[in-house]
Amino acid sequence: MPELPEVETFKRYLDSTSLHQRITNVDVRDAYVLKRVSARQLARRLKGRRFENSHRHGKHLFVRAGDELWLRLHFGMTGSLEYLNHDKAVPKAARVIFRFANKCRLAFDDQRKFGEIELIKGVDEFLQTRGLGPDALEISLSQFKTILGRHRGAVKAILLNQQLIAGIGNLYADEILFRTRTHPATGTGRLSDKDMARLFRAMRDVLEKAIALKTDFNRLPKSWLLTHRGKGAKCPRCGRGLKSATIGGRTAWFCPHCQKRTSRS
Ligand SMILES: [Zn+2]
Repeated sequence: MPELPEVETFKRYLDSTSLHQRITNVDVRDAYVLKRVSARQLARRLKGRRFENSHRHGKHLFVRAGDELWLRLHFGMTGSLEYLNHDKAVPKAARVIFRFANKCRLAFDDQRKFGEIELIKGVDEFLQTRGLGPDALEISLSQFKTILGRHRGAVKAILLNQQLIAGIGNLYADEILFRTRTHPATGTGRLSDKDMARLFRAMRDVLEKAIALKTDFNRLPKSWLLTHRGKGAKCPRCGRGLKSATIGGRTAWFCPHCQKRTSRS
C-alpha cells in the first residue's frame, strides 16, 4: 500500500513528467475512483488547463490545475502513476488517463480499486475537513513528542493514526519500531523522552532512505525488516523467527527477541 515514501516518489515522477503541458482530455475508464465529481465534470474542468505544481501531505497527492482547482490523488492499496509516450499501450489497470497536447498521457493505475481522485478548491481546506495530522516529514521533534505524550495507546496504533501524524502506514510503522527495538504494542505512556527522540529519528531516517531509493524494494537495505517480513521469515538482526500480531487493526511483524515488550523503562 503506497505510504508516504511511495506517494513522494509518485509526486517527483509527476513533477518530472507531467507539469506545464496542456491537458486535452481526461478518459475515465472506471468511475469508482472518482469522488464527488463525475467523469464529465472532471474532463470539462481540466481541459485546456495545465498541471502547474504539486504538493504531498501524508499519503495524499495534490496537483494544482488553476485558481481554486486542485486534483487530489489517493493511491489506496495499489495505485500508481505511469507516464505514457504516444506509442505506449495503456496498462490494463489504468482507471483514469490524462491526455496532453504533446500526445503523451498520464495514467492512474489501480489494480485493486481503492484509489481516489477528486477535485478540490484548496489543500488546507481539505486537510482541515479530513482532520489530518501534520505530515510525518514536516513534523518537529517537539510536535512529535507532544502527540505521543497526549495520546495513550499502542505506539504502533498512534503512528498509524493519520489524524495524529499523516503518512505512515503499516510497513513503515513496523520498520520504525524494528529499528528502535520497540515492541509494536508498547504503550505510549511507557516511552521515555529518549525513546521518543529515538523513534522520531528512526521515522525520519526510514522515510528519507526509502524516498532516496525510490521505494525500490530490491534496493532497500537487507538489514531492514521490510525485506524480510512474512511467514517463516527470520530477523535480519538476530536470525530468530519473526512474529506477527494484530495491533491497531493491522498485521504487525516484529522480532520478539529484539523488540521485547518489557525491556524498556
Ligand atoms: Zn531479532
